[in-house]
Amino acid sequence: EALTNQIAAGEVIERPASLIKELTENSIDAGATQIDIRVVDAGLTLMEVMDNGSGIDREDVPVAFKRHATSKIATVRDLFAIHSLGFRGEALASIASVADVTLATATVAGVGTEAHLVGGKLVDQHSQAFRQGTSIKVADLFFNTPARLKYVRSQATELSHIVDIVSRLALGHPEIAFTLRNGDKVAFKTTGNGDLQQTIAGVYGVNIARSMLAIAATDSDFSISGYVSLPDTTRSSRNNITLLINGRYFKNYNLVKGIIAGYGSKLMVGRFPVAVIAIELDPKLVDVNVHPTKQEVRISKERELADLLKTSIYARLSNQNL
Ligand code: ADP
Ligand code: MG
Repeated sequence: EALTNQIAAGEVIERPASLIKELTENSIDAGATQIDIRVVDAGLTLMEVMDNGSGIDREDVPVAFKRHATSKIATVRDLFAIHSLGFRGEALASIASVADVTLATATVAGVGTEAHLVGGKLVDQHSQAFRQGTSIKVADLFFNTPARLKYVRSQATELSHIVDIVSRLALGHPEIAFTLRNGDKVAFKTTGNGDLQQTIAGVYGVNIARSMLAIAATDSDFSISGYVSLPDTTRSSRNNITLLINGRYFKNYNLVKGIIAGYGSKLMVGRFPVAVIAIELDPKLVDVNVHPTKQEVRISKERELADLLKTSIYARLSNQNL
């Protein structure tokens, strides 16, 4: 069991950022409207995810850390139809198997539970007053899997992966107030007021968000909406293009290419726009062979969708007389 969990951890928990992703998705699933994430030394010393979601009942705490213990049943295709992010019940078991985990949770403010797990073993659980919600603290990541620890890069690299994943989750959830801190320093903060442009301001800064253009288009299969930067507000990496498919962040090379193509010859070589585009589609158009933790999705009629992105961005930029 312990070994199985460690092997599963290798798949789910590649680095601090993947752990933050799993914990944050659980907070989203729990209906949180506020999620505070704090890492120390880019997560290598400590990571903490705090939410004001549903909390976990005392008797469910040991269960939540068991493999395949999930309160969310769904097939891969359902992922695109429903809003629950987790569906395999592996994350908490995997995380606990390779770290030192402290959980505080309450389903009702004032009563609550604190639990401590080391290397996957529940070493302590007791009643403890807590506000409603859940806080999970993870220390000593990969302490018992030195091979995995070896793959962890510099703090700067790990932090950039953490900022990247939390930004995408925040952009996909303008209705949730996110704060990400590294040590005492706020990496970014969103208001949770539901407005996408203001969420973009939280993540990328007010100046970029204000200068972005809104786009919206629909054809028989897809509906797209979001914001794209002007051709002179660019970045050196295409990582600042975020695709949300039925509300979830996914990567797709062809769609990103479609967005860039929408700029025609307006972009300088090696420069890429900032864009956040929400795509709504029938879940039947999603390739079921997608691997949920890889964050990559394939879509049938991908070319049609890439074209819709390209033409609507092109038209919008032409309207600007740039
Ligand atoms: P999954 O998310 O796939 O169900 P996890 O291992 O990530 O599996 O979590 C196991 C279970 O623990 C969840 O199904 C949920 O019931 C509970 N849980 C985990 N994190 C939270 C949280 N932040 N708030 C409330 N419940 C949680
Ligand atoms: Mg989960």
